[in-house]
Amino acid sequence: MIGDGMGLSQISGALYSSRRGLQLERFHNIGLQKTRCKDALVTDSAAAAAAMARGVKVDKNTFGTNEKTTAPPSILEIMKAQGWAVGMVVTCSVTHATPAAFVTYQYQRSMYEEIATDYLKTDVDYLVGGGKEYFDRRSNDDRNLIAELQKKDVVIKSYLDGPITDVNINPEHRFTYFSADSEPLSHSAGRTYFQPACERGLIFLERRSDKGFFLMIEGSQIDWGGHANVDELVIEEIKEFDGVIGKILDFAEKDGETLVVVTADHETGGFSIVGENQKGEPEVSFISKDHTATMVPVFAYGPGSEKFAGVYENTEIHDKILEAIHLSTEVK
Ligand code: MG
Ligand code: ZN
Repeated sequence: MIGDGMGLSQISGALYSSRRGLQLERFHNIGLQKTRCKDALVTDSAAAAAAMARGVKVDKNTFGTNEKTTAPPSILEIMKAQGWAVGMVVTCSVTHATPAAFVTYQYQRSMYEEIATDYLKTDVDYLVGGGKEYFDRRSNDDRNLIAELQKKDVVIKSYLDGPITDVNINPEHRFTYFSADSEPLSHSAGRTYFQPACERGLIFLERRSDKGFFLMIEGSQIDWGGHANVDELVIEEIKEFDGVIGKILDFAEKDGETLVVVTADHETGGFSIVGENQKGEPEVSFISKDHTATMVPVFAYGPGSEKFAGVYENTEIHDKILEAIHLSTEVK
């Protein structure tokens, strides 16, 4: 689970403004990851997600692929190749940097339409997020990727079919739900699909394979609140993400065989809590409109979670997850 731009101060802000505290307080194995990328101390979401997904440091704004090299397989691709069910639920478009890093071999994060075509190469069993227009209203070509995916036995629904709580989801077929044409709304502007999409995803993925499943969940817009220097937006997005974390932890506690890892890709905004208002709510100051290089926390629960204590590079998230589930990095 990745909170984009969710640094320790952002988490503290959400904690101090929640009367009942945060679900994140349920974790006991906690570490810190160093977020720098190959060519810069201050990273971006593409390079940071590529580090966690593929275990390699790559240049800023890229996924590690260029004319000469192809990035190694992502943990999603490795697990899929070994028969696990795989899914992603995000609050941005599915072509945005963080989810893209798990499926794409394009050079640049801005290549949304090219990234969309990579969903025809990597079979994601359960996919929820925005970005429908990059599949069916493309400007680079006349391809309709939704029709192409349907031919590959993917059931595709969207917000036009109603909320995700109302659509039929059958684990015998791969499933994609587009929550928006481009970027979904913020939670405070009325986005409601995130938690139900994750809960339905757990049920779907558990039934989809006997071997196990991998689900990447991203609270994508925490970062956008940071870029905009709007602390209410940051805190609201973290509170929603934290609610999803609670549901995932409930599942993992009951299941007993599920590793849950919650982290961020980087900090955004240099978010600082500098005081409190008359209601006792945190008063926030930002020092940047961009990302910063501060380390970000890693929270882990379940089998193998003790591996996530300590201070380490972001690429080790990839290594530790594969170690914890006893999978090699080779795609067979
Ligand atoms: Mg992101
Ligand atoms: Zn950002």
